[in-house]
Amino acid sequence: MSFAFCPRDGTKLVLTRIDGRDRPACPTCGFADFMHVQVGANTIIERDGQVLLLRLNYGPRDGHWSLPGGLVENDEDTEQAAVRETKEETGFDVALDGLLTTSMRPGSPVLIVVYRAHILSGELRIAPDEASEAGWFPRDAIPAIEDLAWPSTAHGLDAWKAYEPPS
Ligand SMILES: [Zn+2]
Repeated sequence: MSFAFCPRDGTKLVLTRIDGRDRPACPTCGFADFMHVQVGANTIIERDGQVLLLRLNYGPRDGHWSLPGGLVENDEDTEQAAVRETKEETGFDVALDGLLTTSMRPGSPVLIVVYRAHILSGELRIAPDEASEAGWFPRDAIPAIEDLAWPSTAHGLDAWKAYEPPS
């Protein structure tokens, strides 16, 4: 799926050779139609060596475990989205401790960024329209891959298991 008209100024796009492929491009402003992605921001919240996961209760991943997080809005950056979504889904105010990993599958329209985070304040309070329960899992007892919500969940947890803090 691609644009027919420039999303900036409405000019009809024309196929233009850019970076080795013919792409719809705007002769007025130079906009070129590369892939369309949404960005998801997730957190790995660790406490006492355990990670917080949420069991989803909606949609095709109903019953599966997910990291806190969601899609980045137009008016925020990825860090803000990670903190906001985590607060909405867990009740915790968190501080981010750095980017852990990113993942995107070819053909998938979503790029996932995963931050390590720790709790500043708040009480665990899941969003009842998104999750049925929350659980803390140690590295050697996280849910089986078939019980995880997304490939990015498994990818993030693998990165967490492999992560060693700088000494
Ligand atoms: Zn344009």
